[in-house]
Amino acid sequence: MSDIIQLLPDSVANQIAAGEVIQRPASVVKELTENAIDAKAESITINIKDSGKTLIQVIDNGIGMSDTDARLSFERHSTSKIRNADDLFSISTMGFRGEALASIAAIAHVEVKTRQEDNEVGTQITIEGSQVTSQESVSCAKGTNFAVKNLFFNVPARRKFLKSNTTEFSHIISEFQRIVLANPEVEFKLYHNDSEIYLLPKANIRQRIVSVFGKRINQNLITIESNTSIINIKGFIGKPEYARKKSGEQFFFINNRFMRSAYFNKAILNAYDQILQPESVPSYFLYLEAHPSTIDVNIHPTKTEIKFEDQQAIWQIIHSAVKQALGKNNIGPSIDFDLEQSFNIPVLSKDTDIKAPQIDIDPTFNPFAQKMPGSKNPKSSALSLEKENLSNWDKLYEGFEKENDLSQDFSFVSTENSQQSITDPNISDKYFHFKNKYILTPVKSGLMIIDQKRAHERILFEKFIQTLSDESAVSQKTLFPKTIELDTKDHALLMNINKDLKILGFDIDDFGGNSVIVNGMPVDSMNQEPEQILDKFLNEYNTSEVDAKTQAKEIIAKSLAKASAISSNQKLGNEEMREMVDLLFACQNPNFSPFGKLIVSIIKTDEIEKRFI
Ligand code: ADP
Ligand code: MG
Repeated sequence: MSDIIQLLPDSVANQIAAGEVIQRPASVVKELTENAIDAKAESITINIKDSGKTLIQVIDNGIGMSDTDARLSFERHSTSKIRNADDLFSISTMGFRGEALASIAAIAHVEVKTRQEDNEVGTQITIEGSQVTSQESVSCAKGTNFAVKNLFFNVPARRKFLKSNTTEFSHIISEFQRIVLANPEVEFKLYHNDSEIYLLPKANIRQRIVSVFGKRINQNLITIESNTSIINIKGFIGKPEYARKKSGEQFFFINNRFMRSAYFNKAILNAYDQILQPESVPSYFLYLEAHPSTIDVNIHPTKTEIKFEDQQAIWQIIHSAVKQALGKNNIGPSIDFDLEQSFNIPVLSKDTDIKAPQIDIDPTFNPFAQKMPGSKNPKSSALSLEKENLSNWDKLYEGFEKENDLSQDFSFVSTENSQQSITDPNISDKYFHFKNKYILTPVKSGLMIIDQKRAHERILFEKFIQTLSDESAVSQKTLFPKTIELDTKDHALLMNINKDLKILGFDIDDFGGNSVIVNGMPVDSMNQEPEQILDKFLNEYNTSEVDAKTQAKEIIAKSLAKASAISSNQKLGNEEMREMVDLLFACQNPNFSPFGKLIVSIIKTDEIEKRFI
């Protein structure tokens, strides 16, 4: 039998390697920008068209390349950053594998112009799918100018799996943020479809954080610093009250390179224990410095996960540095007692006599008498504690006592065929509000319980979807137009989806910088401040799982429904409950919220009866 093993041609090998290094336009932005930083650029300009699908251009004023180097840079394993295996252990630049340019050239059309300071003329190379199509001398600025066009032109499967422009651009912004925060001493400019997104002058770390995330963050930063023999830590953590239900402002850097670390993230969250609202995450920007020989950056092809020699010790150092910084700012755990139900714990001194507790028994106490409206037993303190609930139960009692024949009045059957009830004039109008969270109402088969927030989300969601398709929303002018300062990413997003937001009733204009001015709001959102709605909306939108199938409009509708829905702790009157139930059962899918959570549940009559056997 003849031999069957062949060496893959370089272009194929490069394409395979590209799959690891270049997953999406954002990866190209990262690799080219890191190369520019390694080339000691002081100013870097990035031009993006169509979220990188059409063009990614990175222009730097760094050291440039000679003619030969420019040509060689596209070969696999071509790098100026290591010479031998030992160098791997003391690497301090961003790149070193020499794979990025070869990978990019294998799957895109690339044009590079580069000139070293001492040379009069520079060199220009074009390369398409690993094939050099031209190399010539040109006059160009000092430094390097890479233009990457038609990414994945020869890998249709990859191209097809790119997400919406909004999603791809938001990946680019994330990579960009990581790089600019790690390199505040470099000036950066980012343009998307010719409009300026970021203009970041040289700065210190704090100024850089503020110019990326907006002025609002400035007074919320707490300085952190800790120097030890194994690691130096500096940077900032956010005040707990600034923590939001949003991830996106959590950054670790090691030797000026962004890194991910779920492990160290825990150290920080742990230090904030008890002083955060549930589910909110604190901001942090921690810059670690360790000797390169004690870390291994080579374990991941895109190099964001890093192995430390002394993981556990570093965990402790981070943890205590954060605790200390919080402590210095007088932020510590506190326990809130609900005033109504607080109790005193007597302070015992050593020589206090301990007596057996005395129990007062009220021989006249009749538990059934308590349930009757109006009757009082002043001696029963347990009951007075539950005054609130009792009065509600009285109401329920009133509701029921007038019912002579429930089966006539309530015709609701079960969740499966709940839609029947919409048209059924006999649906109950007896509503009982429980814990300001659930609407209870008797139906033929039992007691129906509705989660009010989820119900409202469903109602609004279907309404917004409808509005978006027939463009019929009503906007209400805000009394005083409100300017709101956002971070660049959110600002770009809002401008991107502004057309849909307008259809939904928002009237938002760009107000220069990262600000917007809100002149009008959807009628359904008027019970909240514009700032509050936008904040919740952006949080939801930014954290939604987006896949190619989910329509942008659906995410907008969902996010806005969640942001505008009433809270799980809002009093509702009888009329409001009736309206909510009516609207819910007029929905196409009244059983589940737009996030797939159960809205309606029925406790069957026989289940209730069983309890009294
Ligand atoms: P690596 O960065 O891992 O060395 P790359 O494929 O990203 O590998 O780059 C290959 C080489 O090309 C680099 O080592 C560097 O010598 C050169 N190079 C790439 N980009 C630039 C740039 N913007 N300015 C100067 N030299 C560059
Ligand atoms: Mg590189």
